[in-house]
Amino acid sequence: FNALHPTASGTRFNISYEFFPPKTAEMETQLWASVKRLEALRPHFVSVTYGAGGSTRERTHAIVARIARETIMKPAAHLTCVSSSKEEIDEILRAYWEAGVRHIVALRGDPPTGVGTVFEPNPKGYASSSDLVNGIRRLHDFEISVSTYPEGHPESRSIEQDLDALQAKIDAGATRAITQFFFDNDVYFRFLDKARARGITIPIVPGIMPIRNFKQVANFAAKAGASVPRWVAERFDGLDEDQETRALVAATTAVEQVMGLARAGVEEFHFYTNNRADMVFAICHLLGVRPLREKADA
Ligand code: FAD
Repeated sequence: FNALHPTASGTRFNISYEFFPPKTAEMETQLWASVKRLEALRPHFVSVTYGAGGSTRERTHAIVARIARETIMKPAAHLTCVSSSKEEIDEILRAYWEAGVRHIVALRGDPPTGVGTVFEPNPKGYASSSDLVNGIRRLHDFEISVSTYPEGHPESRSIEQDLDALQAKIDAGATRAITQFFFDNDVYFRFLDKARARGITIPIVPGIMPIRNFKQVANFAAKAGASVPRWVAERFDGLDEDQETRALVAATTAVEQVMGLARAGVEEFHFYTNNRADMVFAICHLLGVRPLREKADA
């Protein structure tokens, strides 16, 4: 791997990291330790998720605003249409703008009644993700990223429908798509080819999920419309009680995936960090992305 990127410039890759609002004081400490560690790698941006049904509205804001205030990183705030009126969403957006935040990850969100049920928009709210992107655009000049699903969203009947949805979001003003996680790189390449064939030119950034806890990821994947190849399951087979080996296997699997994408020319990666720095730090290190201090010493 080292031979691939012998320089430690870190400039060839645009990296972003995703965090979620922690629930306990202990998890909060872990989040900020991870944020600080990854800050040294000068990511392109870092994003903070928005809890289902808007349940983390205040916490997401507090973390995003603190990143804007206390770090050199550019934060992006996830925002969904769920359970909020347009007025409420606009109020959230104004507060972000005032806090110096300039990037929103705009999503429809899952129905409050649960994944797999029909999404009923708030009568006074934004009806879809493209509608939300439109609303954000009208309010302020935010940079807007959106989601996309290389294996199809669970509600989608075909990949073409996913591409239609992506196109609608781009037409409304989105300038970057971040993918749902996937483990088979060919799935991503096929999706990318289809998108490019349609004239979609915005970056479609692969979302990379290191598998810390196989059972949890497999459950999540089943709901999210992401497949877990048999070879991935086999790698974690028999390791439920062996955390140390699991972590090594997870890191190896994620590194192989990222290196495979990098070899094929991918230069942007979005990491689902699970609020932990260690694994993604190691993956980035192998990509040649190094902390500022090491660069200055060089
Ligand atoms: P959309 O773009 O709105 O739609 C997804 C797909 O559903 C479309 O591709 C299309 O195929 C189909 N579809 C949707 N509406 C229609 C329609 N009217 N007619 C036909 N087909 C339709 N959830 C959170 O709650 N908080 C977060 O912070 C969060 N962050 C995320 C970040 C990323 C990178 C990703 C990939 C997902 C994230 N999600 C988050 C999950 C997301 O909210 C759910 O997957 C939700 O069900 C869809 O919202 P969306 O904006 O991703 O999809």
